[in-house]
Amino acid sequence: MAILKVARMGHPVLRAKARPLEAAEIRSPAVQQLIDDMFETMAEYQGVGLAAPQIHESVRLFVAGIPARTGDDDEDEDDDDDDMPLVALINPEITPVGREVSEDWEGCLSIPDIRGRVPRARSIVVKGYDRNGKRVEIKASGFSARVMQHETDHLNGVLFFDRMKSFETLTFLDEFGRYWSRRDVAEE
Ligand code: ZN
Repeated sequence: MAILKVARMGHPVLRAKARPLEAAEIRSPAVQQLIDDMFETMAEYQGVGLAAPQIHESVRLFVAGIPARTGDDDEDEDDDDDDMPLVALINPEITPVGREVSEDWEGCLSIPDIRGRVPRARSIVVKGYDRNGKRVEIKASGFSARVMQHETDHLNGVLFFDRMKSFETLTFLDEFGRYWSRRDVAEE
């Protein structure tokens, strides 16, 4: 396992369209290792998602999720499914379900210490492959739908700034904590 270097905004790999992985490639030791390293890198930086282009690999793969919390600290009875099981998704295709769009804060490991409000489809279906090369279809809404849209955007060279309706809400992390929220928004 290894912690990988995260590409920051301005690196061309973040603006490239990543290539799909072949079915046979998915189970190769190289790709399995890459997935393990991406999970480790995401945990190291306390992210909730990490797409392969962010670690300089231009392939259609992302990892996402929050490791199950131990202990019961449930004061945030905050609506949305803030919980998200760890998942690795390959060649994801997203289809919005319904027309509802919700706006919420996002951050990105490739744009450190900045937050902004981004509109996203509230509910989606994601089709793709898991790390065993098995076809999967995941229904998601709220937080996990947001994360998966953010990560899939990375595979198309799209960053969350591109999705913002206005830059008025762009905020440094310090100011975010001071003026906008008591709870942190993890980076993706
Ligand atoms: Zn990101």
